[in-house]
This record gives sequence, C-alpha cells and structure tokens, in this order.
Amino acid sequence: MNYSKLAEFYEEVSSTTKRLKKIDILAKFLKKLSDKDREVMYLLLGDIYPEYDERRIGISNQLAIKAISKATGTDAKRVLFEWKNLGDIGKVAEKFTLNKKQSTLQSSILTTEKVLENLRKLPELEGKGTVGKKLNLITELLTSAKPIEALYLVRTLIGDLRIGVQESTIKYGMLKVFFKNNKKYESTLQQAIDNSNDLAVVFDIAKKGKIKDLEKVHLEVGKPIKAMLAQKVTKIEDGFKALGSPCAIEYKYDGFRLIIHKQGKKVNLFTRRLENVTKQFPEAVEYILKYVKGDSFILDSEAVGYSKKTKEYTEFQSISQRIRRKYNIEKIQKDFPVEINVFDILYYNGKSKLEEPFEKRTALIKKIIKNSPYKIISAKQIITGNVQKAKEFYKKALKDNQEGIMMKNLKAPYKPGRRVGNMLKIKPEERDLDLVITGAEYGTGKRSGWMSSFILSCKKGDKYLEIGKVGTGIKEKAEQGISFEELTKKLKPLIIKEKGKRVDFKPKIVVSVTYQEIQRSPNYNSGWALRFPRFTALRTDKPLSEISSLEEVENDFKHQKRNWEYG
Ligand code: AMP
Repeated sequence: MNYSKLAEFYEEVSSTTKRLKKIDILAKFLKKLSDKDREVMYLLLGDIYPEYDERRIGISNQLAIKAISKATGTDAKRVLFEWKNLGDIGKVAEKFTLNKKQSTLQSSILTTEKVLENLRKLPELEGKGTVGKKLNLITELLTSAKPIEALYLVRTLIGDLRIGVQESTIKYGMLKVFFKNNKKYESTLQQAIDNSNDLAVVFDIAKKGKIKDLEKVHLEVGKPIKAMLAQKVTKIEDGFKALGSPCAIEYKYDGFRLIIHKQGKKVNLFTRRLENVTKQFPEAVEYILKYVKGDSFILDSEAVGYSKKTKEYTEFQSISQRIRRKYNIEKIQKDFPVEINVFDILYYNGKSKLEEPFEKRTALIKKIIKNSPYKIISAKQIITGNVQKAKEFYKKALKDNQEGIMMKNLKAPYKPGRRVGNMLKIKPEERDLDLVITGAEYGTGKRSGWMSSFILSCKKGDKYLEIGKVGTGIKEKAEQGISFEELTKKLKPLIIKEKGKRVDFKPKIVVSVTYQEIQRSPNYNSGWALRFPRFTALRTDKPLSEISSLEEVENDFKHQKRNWEYG
C-alpha cells in the first residue's frame, strides 16, 4: 500500500491520547487493509519483522542526520542544529523535506513494500562499506518521501515511533473490526498472538473472522515466546491468601531468565527479550542434551552464577556480561559458570502444556530432568500450606544468596507475556525498582567529560515519568562494576536533546535501583521522588515494557511501612 496512507494513520492516531479513540482509529485503518498488506502489522509497532525475530533496524541518530542531510541537500550542521532546536529528529526530516519539496518534484511514490524492503536490508549489512550502503538505502527512501512520510520514516529508523500504539491496541482493533468487538473472543485472539508472536499471522486469520482457526495457532519449538511474569506481595500470609493453600514455593533465583527450546538435537536459548543467546551458553546446551529427557520441549528457567571457588551463588550482575559476550566464550564460561534452574515447562514431545495446571507441569519437570547440581536442576521447591515452613524456606533462599521466593498457584496455567496473579514474588527489600534512564547531567572535577548524575523514569502507559536522580552505586573504575565512563558511552548515542550540562535520552537503558523511601515530590513529573537511590545493576535483560510502572511506585509507597518483617 501507499506509505502515505500509513503515515496519515500514524498522524491521526497520535492526535489523541485516549485509548478507546486510538482503538477506533486503528480498527478503521485495519478495515481498509487488503490481504497483501499483512506486513503493515509490523510497521504499526515500528518494527520490520514479527516480535520473535531479533533483527532490528538499529540506525543511530548520527546516521539518520547524515541521511536527512543527503536526501534534502541540507548541510549536516544545520540538520544537527535543528535537531537540538526541535528535539525530534523526525520533525527535522519533515521540515527539510518540506523545504526541498517546494523546489523539486517528488521522484516516485513510496510504498510500504518498498519501505520494508529497504529497511530489511539494513540489519543484514556487515563489514566494509556498511555505513555507506545503509546511507544509500535510507536516502533512497527519504528522497521519495513526502514531508509527513519522512517524519515517520525517520522515527521508525531510530526506533522511536511515538504513536502510542501497542500490541494490545492492535488486538482490540482486530477484535473490533473482525469480531464485532465480541469480548468472548478476546482471550482466543490474545492466545494466538502469544503463541505466534506474529501479528501478521494473526491478521491473516482474524481477517477471515474465523475464531476456530485462531485457536489452531500453536506454540512452535524454536520460535521464542514471551515469559510469564510475576506480581509482587510483601508477606507470605498474603501470598497464601491470594493463591490458596497449599501452593508451590520456590527460590527466586537472582540470575536471568532463560527459555530453552529443544527439538531433536537442536537447542535454542532465548532471553525474556526474545534474544537468541544459544552461542553465549554452550555449556547450557550441553547440559540440556545430556540431562533432560524428551524429543522436544520448551522449558522456562533461571540461569544463576556461582563462584568457581566456593560454589556459592553469586548475584545477577556478576554473570550479566555473559549475555552479550560473543567472543572468548570459553574463558568467560570458565570464569563465570552458570547453573540452570528449571521452573516451568510449556511444551513437551509435541504437545503444548500451557493449559495444564502448574502441579502437573512441575511434576513433569522433576520426571524429565536428571538433577545435576552446578549444571542443571529443577528449581528448589516445596509444596506447603504452612506459613512457618514457608518462612523457613524463605530464609534458606536468602542465605543461599537468592533474591527471595516465588509462590505459585498449583492449578494455574502458563500465560505467556502476562503478569499474572497466580505467580507471586516476595523479596525482603521491596524497595527496588527497574527504571529507565531518560536524562543525565555531565559531572565536574574528576568526573568532567562523563555523565555523573542520571535521571530515572518509570512508565505510565507509553510515557516515561521522572522519579529521581542516581549517581550512587556507579563506580569510578570499570573493574569495580559499571563505571561512569561506560555508562556515558552507552548513553551518548541515545542523546535527543542537550542543554548546558543537561542531556535527554531516548529511553533505552534499563537499570535496577534500590532506595530507602519514596516521597511525594513536586520536582519530578511523576509526582514522586526516591530517597537515597542506589544503582545496583544494568538490566540489559529487561525490555522497556517491563520497567516499573507509576502504579507500582504508588503501591510501593503505600506498602513501605509494612515491609520490615523480612528486611
Ligand atoms: P522480577 O524480575 O523481579 O519481576 O521477578 C520475576 C523474575 O524472577 C522472572 O522473570 C525470573 O527471571 C525470575 N525467577 C527466579 N526464580 C524464579 C522461579 N522459581 N520462578 C519464576 N521466576 C523466577
């Protein structure tokens, strides 16, 4: 279809912040699409592939500036200047395209197919001359773009579409236009989205209005799916109250989530961000092939680091570098070994286990895994209704350097990508949050040249609201942990605005912080401020969609006084 139709939709849907209005606009847009337009689904979320596919556009602001400069014949310095002025590189593209259009004729019509074709070439490029080739591909699109197309094209390129459309908006849009908004079908639609992680596939089927066919969208081994997420409680008693008694209680391991797919001899490992990290963990692949029975399966697990010397578990931060490391794997594997703790199973020997009650799934795990400590084990677990026993288990988990416990409803199904009330986490210090860095200030004295104070934000819908500043916990030297220098380097490519010492970023870098207290505050636009925040970890494993919400912050505030028992 004509890209300008999509751009007009982007414009219309951005013009309202109301959720229902957005769904309305989307439904109308979906209705106009033909079968051939299925891949427009990806563009609606600013992507070029389905969610399970790791390939991303990944264009830096710098390259976008060059492309705008080249395509519109504007000096790069002017583009940069205007960017600082407008704070939105898309708007800059729109402005200069408008200037140019007054003097030249548009060369050709841009289609969504052409946009996808060129954008999909970007992640494939590697090696010498890559930058030039990327520039050509982008410039080709921009020279054919109308001003409004240039705006959204550039925003798509840099991964910041800002139209407030999420997967759920699309789900409700489809429900409305293809199923007459019959709420009865919402869960089937959701399930098809969860199982396929591919909105184009769901669009194909939903468009025909056949709910029965949507039910047939199954999990596929090897195709990553989203992990089920937990809610928080502060007390074991509250956990039992919410889940019923008895329930399963497990260690809440302080590692990172690893979803394991196996088909025959082929193992694939995915993070909760759906990144494939199989190459980074060759030992895990070996353990899975050796110690887990079954022809095909999908397991949910936590990889935890332990000390080579003492065999004690170590904290997440110590193994986080393994997630990204692509070279010298052998050495890092020896220095930072991991143990895989399997706590759920989603699929086994050709059958989905999502609908089976947790007690059956956990029993199956125990049956198929040959427990091999420091390699792969089924997660430490008790099944009890006794508060005292649960408390003892909790203490044991903490003594074992783990974060706390998970309490799980024995009857509950597995819900991919949902934060469910059937799985609850309890940690001693409820006072920690996962936030995104949205701003910073450059330091002075020995920290000059580095950013030294970082503005943190929580989320509200698709907005980010500031909630505090952190400098504590970040190290002077890289050997001691994450350093100012390192963080500055990570953040520089994300700068969207600079004024004096203050810079604003595209929200991307997620961090965990602990704090002593939450207070009401007029200083930040969330209305809250963290007292004595301390940086504890860079959360490269957490997607932006999973950072703490304003609601969680408010909830933490309400509960902070009741939280001493396990502190
Ligand atoms: P949080 O990241 O604080 O929302 O806590 C949820 C995370 O705890 C999950 O994403 C897992 O990575 C981790 N986790 C550790 N142990 C378990 C367990 N036994 N069951 C489920 N999740 C666990």
